[in-house]
Parts: sequence; C-alpha cells; structure tokens
Amino acid sequence: MTERTLVLVKPDGVERRLIGEVISRIERKGLTLVALDLRTVDRELASQHYAEHDGKPFFESLLEFITSGPVLAAVAEGPRAISAWRQLAGGTDPVEKAAPGSIRGDFGLEVQYNLVHGSDSPESAAREIKLWFPNL
Ligand code: GDP
Ligand code: MG
Repeated sequence: MTERTLVLVKPDGVERRLIGEVISRIERKGLTLVALDLRTVDRELASQHYAEHDGKPFFESLLEFITSGPVLAAVAEGPRAISAWRQLAGGTDPVEKAAPGSIRGDFGLEVQYNLVHGSDSPESAAREIKLWFPNL
C-alpha cells in the first residue's frame, strides 16, 4: 500500500550541510520525493506541527530551535513510506535509540538536535502534509 510521509531536515541538518545526504538516503531506499521546499518556519506553523508536545518541558526550546533557521520540508511516497522513513531516520535519541547506520545514529549527539523529522502514523502524516503542503 502506497503511503506518503512528511520529511523535515531541521535547522541543524541544514546548517551542517546534510540536505544532500538525507535526500540521497531517501532516494537510495526507493522512496519517491513528491514535494520539496526550503523555508523558514514561523511560530504558528511550528506550534501546530508540534501540538502534541505542547505543555512538555522541552516545548519552548523545540519551537525556538525549529524556527531558528531554514528547514527542508519534503513529502516522500512509497510502500510503507512512514515506517521506511522512520527507520532511515532512527530513534528520537540519536545516541541511545538511533542505531548506527541511521541518519540520527550516524550524525546526531543530542535529543533536540536530531536532524530530521518523520511522521509517526498515517493520521499524523495526513495532518502534517496538509499543514506543510496545503496544495499537494
Ligand atoms: P520524533 O517523532 O522521533 O521526532 O520525536 P518526538 O515526536 O517524541 O519529539 C519531537 C522532537 O522534540 C524530537 O525529534 C526532538 O527534536 C525533540 N525532543 C523530544 N524529546 C526531547 C527531550 O526530552 N528534550 C529535548 N530538548 N528535546 C526533545
Ligand atoms: Mg514525533
């Protein structure tokens, strides 16, 4: 079954010149990019995107971070694209959860600065894609 997932390269990934690396891994996996956009996010979009984390101790710092510089927003499509992209990205904690060989496992050291985002379910993917790419 073909799915679509939201892909973000967060400001730390853009700053560290990892856009090419991330796109390359997505393409090598066999997923198809159906939208790509480099943009700076405002607080409104950031807080909607991370609404599930509103009230958590790291929420403010997460919003500050995600609005701190350009992000690459993309939509990737393919069979089981949501899970495929989450596996490529690796677990949230780049040291203790993300396996070496994943993007976070290979390039990350801190939980907040974990380089990429991926939708975590079909419901999240639908919500996030509509939020970031309303015309898709
Ligand atoms: P994800 O789906 O793997 O990105 O993880 P979550 O949805 O749980 O969290 C969203 C993002 O918030 C993560 O990717 C991190 O950038 C950040 N984050 C999550 N947990 C923490 C935390 O305990 N501390 C801090 N500073 N940031 C966190
Ligand atoms: Mg999440």
